Amino acid sequence: MARHTDGTEKRCAHRGALLHFLADPGSHSDPASFEFFADGLLVVDEGRVAAVGPAGELLASLPADLPIIEHGGDILMPGFIDTHIHYPQTDVIGSGGRQLLDWLEDHTFPAERRFSDPVHARSVAEFFLDELLRNGTTTAMVFCTVHRTSAEAFFDAALRRRMRMIAGKVLMDRNCPPDLRDSPAAGAQDTRELLEKWHGRERLQYAITPRFAATSSPEQLESAGRLAREFPDVLIQTHAAENLEEVAWVRTLYPDARSYMDVYDRYGLVRERALFAHCIHIDRLDRERMAKSGAAAAFCPASNLYLGSGLFDIAAADCAGMRFSIATDVGGGNSFSMLRTLGDAYKVAHLAGQHLPALRAFYLATLGAARILGLQHRVGRFSAGSEADFIVLDLKATPLIARRTAQARSLEERLLALLTLGDDRVIARTYILGRQVHGAPATARTNRNNSG
Ligand SMILES: [Zn+2]
Repeated sequence: MARHTDGTEKRCAHRGALLHFLADPGSHSDPASFEFFADGLLVVDEGRVAAVGPAGELLASLPADLPIIEHGGDILMPGFIDTHIHYPQTDVIGSGGRQLLDWLEDHTFPAERRFSDPVHARSVAEFFLDELLRNGTTTAMVFCTVHRTSAEAFFDAALRRRMRMIAGKVLMDRNCPPDLRDSPAAGAQDTRELLEKWHGRERLQYAITPRFAATSSPEQLESAGRLAREFPDVLIQTHAAENLEEVAWVRTLYPDARSYMDVYDRYGLVRERALFAHCIHIDRLDRERMAKSGAAAAFCPASNLYLGSGLFDIAAADCAGMRFSIATDVGGGNSFSMLRTLGDAYKVAHLAGQHLPALRAFYLATLGAARILGLQHRVGRFSAGSEADFIVLDLKATPLIARRTAQARSLEERLLALLTLGDDRVIARTYILGRQVHGAPATARTNRNNSG
């Protein structure tokens, strides 16, 4: 008998088309880099992936009373990972005008000022997490504000939802309004206390978060580097070489550094689990240094277009072996949707005379990002024992998407249609640790009644 379920059964299986990646498909869409089952099965047990494969093979080996949740022809895949986003900028999304440095002054700093209030911080954090889930993003690397309260509110909201989140309090001790300023000592003290409280607590991780080189004194970057050495498994996030005016400013502030990236390198911040947003105006030596260190870039195409910052160079990153992910950068970026952001990445690649295949874009938004964050054994692909954070993509979400995907002759073409036409409407359901947290209930049967 059919019934509705939110997927909270201890053990159940999800049936639908199923896609996940095993490796980077690269620019040639390596067919060994992914698994796609047109009629697949994802078996979930106590919030973890128990098995994955073709439904026809797996169903026969499963108990007759196992609940099977039917997703029809929709595509199941691991939840998206957004590696660079600012939760306090939720309310300034779509604020227009000028480029980066003016945008910070005119829109960002006034909005961030309000996060000294824990009630405001909590209400924005809840809205932000709802919005991520509606858009199929199950893990994100998140900037808070300079206020300790902003990080406390965010971590607490994510903890209650059992979401896998990475976040950090912004370090910022100069070149910003006085009431948004910390000091090297106070910033380091708050960071230490926050990471000791939150890093590794359930699914939460801490990131040491200098906003960027221009708003941190050498003393503050020095203290951030000391913390990074003391806590090597903690992540690092900041911005680098986003805008030409910013690059020129950083050169005057750190005249001894060879380059913008070299500023961070001198303080020990270029290392594994360090993620640098943008990395547009960098050179070969910077890319090679990042590749060697294990640091990675977050390519934020929507933000780079919106603020007129420039075009990320995928070919140069690949040539140097520098890893990168794709991120929304809300609120410089103007959508929470990773699908729309992947669509923008595809267009930026074309503007730069390059090509980003859709398969690779989806890899970068799932397993590719998980690898950069050191989370590849937990999220980003369906391997036995990994955490069951996954999404269901509706190929009939709009009449145009239904019409276009029905005519697609290959998986690449179908995925390209999804990232070109798709947004939050395509995310039919989102699951965290096997529990449905967004979307309409799916229909469940038991294995006995399955046509399988
Ligand atoms: Zn940013």
